[in-house]
Amino acid sequence: MALLEQLIDALRVLPGVGQKTAQRMAYQLLERNRDGGKRLAQALEAAMQRVGHCERCRTFSEDPICVICASAGREPSQLCVLETPADQVAIEAATGYRGLYFVLLGRLSPLDGRGPRELGLDRLAERLAQGEVRELIIATSATVEGEATAHYLAQLARKHGVRASRLAHGVPLGGELEYIDRGTLAHAFGSRHAVESSDPTSSGASQ
Ligand code: ZN
Repeated sequence: MALLEQLIDALRVLPGVGQKTAQRMAYQLLERNRDGGKRLAQALEAAMQRVGHCERCRTFSEDPICVICASAGREPSQLCVLETPADQVAIEAATGYRGLYFVLLGRLSPLDGRGPRELGLDRLAERLAQGEVRELIIATSATVEGEATAHYLAQLARKHGVRASRLAHGVPLGGELEYIDRGTLAHAFGSRHAVESSDPTSSGASQ
């Protein structure tokens, strides 16, 4: 394959980029912005080589432990569980949350081969068993799979005697960040509610 064809083909890995757009991008870079193109190539190369996942929270990180997990200024008794690193960035930007995170990198979907192990939930269970976490803030999306994941997380929390809370419904987390404004997200985060227990004798849950 000619180099130009290879470039166009490679650009099509980007989300939402088809043949036409890839062609336009390739011509644009070659005609008008070779420096930008080289910078893009270097940034891609470096990021693909060196950005991994934090050993504690699974978000993207160049180091074994990410900046937030390594920070002494965060409150380790609160743990917010999210689907994507993008959701984490949104909550950091919109709220004054000072606790820690756990990023699932997806949501439970057994038919697609994403079970508890793929989402790192065995590691999350170990962490809850250590006793430091007192509130699990469940911020999975309001999709069917997101709700199923939330249910699983609430049960996991209950099993370890950890209080679970859920963001208000209607917040489109889960990679749909273009629909969120900061005020809405901050409000949903601030007014999160206790997750209803399936145990009818327990109290304190509100909707
Ligand atoms: Zn981390």
